[in-house]
Amino acid sequence: MRLDPLPPGTAPALDDAAAAAPPEAPDKDELRDRLAQLGQRMAQLQEALYAEGKRAMLIVLQARDTGGKDGAIRHVFGRLNPLGVEVTTFKVPTPLELRHDYLWRVHQRVPPAGLIGVFNRSHYEDVLVVRVHRLVPKEVWEPRYEQINAFERHLVANGITILKFCLHISAEEQRKRLIARLRDPSKHWKFNPGDLNERARWQDYTDAYADAIRATGTADAPWYVVPADRKPVRDVLIAQVVVETLERMGPRYPPSETGVTELLAQLEGEATSGGGRRE
Ligand code: AMP
Ligand code: MG
Repeated sequence: MRLDPLPPGTAPALDDAAAAAPPEAPDKDELRDRLAQLGQRMAQLQEALYAEGKRAMLIVLQARDTGGKDGAIRHVFGRLNPLGVEVTTFKVPTPLELRHDYLWRVHQRVPPAGLIGVFNRSHYEDVLVVRVHRLVPKEVWEPRYEQINAFERHLVANGITILKFCLHISAEEQRKRLIARLRDPSKHWKFNPGDLNERARWQDYTDAYADAIRATGTADAPWYVVPADRKPVRDVLIAQVVVETLERMGPRYPPSETGVTELLAQLEGEATSGGGRRE
């Protein structure tokens, strides 16, 4: 089981079948072990990326409500050293954000060299919810695909590796998850009455996702459609792509400072001579 990036220019299938776990998906225990292994490898690579301090990775997570963005952040990226990760959640833009161009708030949260940035929603909302709810006219949102491509091209050219994941769930799975939220008082805070309104626009969102992914899936900033009905499958598939991409980046620890041998000798000498500070 593995995820391939969507070939540039192709429209993804976003039907129920595409949300189901692949038939060869392993069982629960095997998935748990694999995620643990991938998490360890990811953490090692992250450490090297951080130490190298030259390049960054940006991971974009998009999904419908209950699609599993929060869960993936916890279960996959929760395995990394918090020092090296920046998670940003993009909500309805504030009045200040609305006075700027839509990429303004996004660019500020692009991770600096050495870090992995995770976007919980992203600039893609500006061609998804904004389109579905007609928050701006088509003449405004349609050119954004090209603007986003130019923006991402610019980031890639400046040392950012970009991975974009669409966590794709079926309508039936969303129904179950919304019911689970409503039945569990500790999850009520996650439920927004507006979620049902969004759900009613299922097909509009499907069209908006399909168009956005087709128009912005590039070799440099590829989209992955994650079958997300089964949570552990979703997590393992995402972790695999992240690990493989980090392996390809091959982050290196910086070369050691010159004079290490002398410094070591000096410190070790202190220990044998009674150690510590000299007055
Ligand atoms: P949640 O992810 O449940 O916290 O909800 C955040 C809400 O913010 C979602 O309904 C998003 O669609 C909405 N949102 C995020 N970005 C934008 C945007 N650029 N314009 C309008 N709504 C947005
Ligand atoms: Mg929500």
